[in-house]
This record gives sequence, structure tokens and C-alpha cells, in this order.
Amino acid sequence: SAAEARFVANNPRSKSLHEQAAQALPGGNTRTVLYTSPFPLSMKQGKGAYVWDEDGHKYLDLVGELSAGLYGHSHPLIRETLLSTFDSAGVSLGASTAHEQAFAELLCARFRLARVRMTNSGTEANLHAFAGARHFTGRRKVVVFSGGYHGGVLSFPDGRPAANVVDQADFVVAPRYNDVASAVETISAVGDLAAVLVEPVQGAGGCIPATREFLMAVRDAARAKGALFILDEVMTSRLAPGGLGVEMGLEPDLVTLGKYLGGGLAFGAFGGRENVMALYDPRIEGGLAHSGTFNNNTLVMATGRAALERIYTPEVCEDFNRSADEFRRKLSSLSKGTRLCFTGCGSLIGFHFTDDVRDEVLCGEDINGKERKDLRDLFWFEMLEAGFWTVRRGYIALILETSEAELNAFVEAVRAFLNRHHDIMLV
Ligand code: PLP
Repeated sequence: SAAEARFVANNPRSKSLHEQAAQALPGGNTRTVLYTSPFPLSMKQGKGAYVWDEDGHKYLDLVGELSAGLYGHSHPLIRETLLSTFDSAGVSLGASTAHEQAFAELLCARFRLARVRMTNSGTEANLHAFAGARHFTGRRKVVVFSGGYHGGVLSFPDGRPAANVVDQADFVVAPRYNDVASAVETISAVGDLAAVLVEPVQGAGGCIPATREFLMAVRDAARAKGALFILDEVMTSRLAPGGLGVEMGLEPDLVTLGKYLGGGLAFGAFGGRENVMALYDPRIEGGLAHSGTFNNNTLVMATGRAALERIYTPEVCEDFNRSADEFRRKLSSLSKGTRLCFTGCGSLIGFHFTDDVRDEVLCGEDINGKERKDLRDLFWFEMLEAGFWTVRRGYIALILETSEAELNAFVEAVRAFLNRHHDIMLV
């Protein structure tokens, strides 16, 4: 397309960096999600709510590091905490520290966990959560949902597991997220069930929020089978002061966390009920070992804690997500009756280009097969030209530093896009 040709012409340095990267990384890539054709943009720098690419273009950062970048780039408090911790403590001490004690206490209080364990990623947190559930129940199978994403080795698109290092036979994929009847039916039918693992908003699956009714039904069906209910809040813990589990009163057995909670550094955690987490108590016989060289590195422990305690207070969290809801409502009213629709919850927003008008998206199956990738790509190229960096597949994770005026500028850019392409966008 003409927009793609302009993208190629405007980004020669990204193009040649990608060609060089392909000499050492397969496809020049080390995170699948970041590949875009004909080549990905290479970013050089971030500051506050903005990023600059290698060819010198400046963008408002609406990618927000896929939700881990909540605090923006080089936040002064994060910078200060990183530097002062490095100077006073060092990075990794090969020992238990007061830093991990303080951060663990804060996470337990904020997310109402009896006990918590740290990991280096959300993927690891989920792997440990269901290992724990298996050990606790003495059973093997885990029910997940079509469209669910629980980490690089745990994704479940289109009803089929794409996982590879985990044994796929251990997972049963329930069809249609948000469908109470099929969820209950699937969960009830599985023998040897250790756990049900679910996101309260399907993030990578399209930013689709679950109803409380659905999550409660899933929880109750899991409990009725003596299985654990694990809530994956790796992406959603930012949406309410205690995460959506607390907000909706779900009382999950285990919760997994990650993303922004490390203050922008690599982080994950899992926690929950005291009797389940006691499996990890090294003083008790018969439990599970859980190791990881960097689980308690001082930089993440100190920075994650300072950021959660001093930047993302419960009040800030509520205000931020409330104004984000307002922003999404503006986008939705603008796109009514067009091939573009917005989904999401608070500061996590999905957008979808489909053949027909979508008033409501309740699960991936509502859009699968109807996507207009041509329009989606056109939008991405043209938003770049207008100075907005979004996730190509249709995702925005807002960052705290972005002002209302900057968000309104994006709304106007979307309005201009819809006007410019009304011939193909109106249904
Ligand atoms: N779970 C959910 C819901 C996620 O969105 C992600 C990452 O996008 C993960 C788990 C995996 O986290 P990480 O990328 O830190 O391994």
C-alpha cells in the first residue's frame, strides 16, 4: 500500500538495523509480539510519555511496553531508587534481604494475598502457580480459555494450545470466554482437574473484559471439583487498587502478578491462600522447591516497592483508570457504525477492525475470521505518521505520564482517519 511504501521510505535506519539484527537473531527478533512487516521500527530512546525511533521520529507512547511501562520512561523516582539501591546495596547479594521482605509485605497487603513468592516474569509466575496447584491437589489437568494468554509458553489462541515446553495434553481449552454455560460444562467434564486459570480481562486475546458473573461461575465450577481457581492478574492488577480479583470480590485461591509491578524491570509473582503457599515453606516437609537467581534482586525489590507505594497509590490508580474509561468512551462513540471498535477496561484498550459493525465483543470468536488486517495495518501506518505509537495488532496500554490533551490529540487523529477513509470504514 501507499502508506507502507511511505513507512519504508521514512525509516531507512530501522530497516538496515533489522537486516543486521537478522544476522544474529532469527528474523531479527527476540520477542515475537514485536515483529511487524515489512520490518519493525527500532526505538532509540524513551522519555516520559514519548519514544523516539532510530530515524529520529517522535511518538506519543501508547504501547506502554504492553502494560509493563505504566510509569513511563525514566520516571525521576524510579531513577533515584535504582541508583540509590545500586549504590547502597548492590544488585544481587546471594542472600535474603530487607528489600524483599518490605516488597512482599506491600504486595500481600495491596492484593490481599496471605503469602507471595517472587519470580522474574509473569510466565514463570503462572508456571509455578499451576505446579503449586498440581502439588496441592495431587491432580494434573488445567482448564484455560480460548484466546487466553498466560506467557510465552502458555498461549491458547483459537481453541488450541500453542504452548510447546508444557505438555499440551495437560491443558483443556474451554471455548468462548465469557460464556458461562460452556465454561461450566467444560470444567465439570474434566477429570483429574487441578486448576482453572483465567484472566479477568483477556489481554493479548484482544482486551476483552470478563463479566463478574462469568468469573464467579468459573470459580464456583472449579471449587465444586476440588480444583483451585487461579486468577492471572499479570496484566490486570493495574486496573484497581487491589487488582480486579479484589475489586470484583472473587477471592481466588492463587493470583499471578507481573508487568509494571517491577517498576519497569523484569518481574513476576504468585501468591494467595496460606495453606497453598505453605507448599513453598522450606521448613515444611513435602513441599515444592522454587528457586531463581534473580527472584529477589535488590533493584527490582526496591524499585517495585517505591513505585507502588509512592507513585501508583490506590487513589492514583482509581483516577487513572477512571479517566482512561472516559478516553475509551470517546473513541467508542467516534467509531460507532464503522468497521473499527474499541474494547477494554480502564487503562488497557483493544481496538479491532472487522468486516461489520461490532457493538459488543465478548470473546475472540466474536471477531475471529472477520478481521480486516488491511484496515488495521493502514491505521497503524497512518497513526505513526501522525506521531502515535500503538501496538499494530490493536492494543493500547496507557502510561501515567500521558496528559488529557495528549489523549485528546489521539482522539482527533482517529476522527481524522475515519473521515479520510469513510468510504472503506463506514459499513
Ligand atoms: N499473563 C498475562 C495475562 C500476560 O498478559 C502476560 C504477558 O503479556 C503474561 C502472563 C506473561 O508475562 P511475561 O511476559 O512477564 O512472562
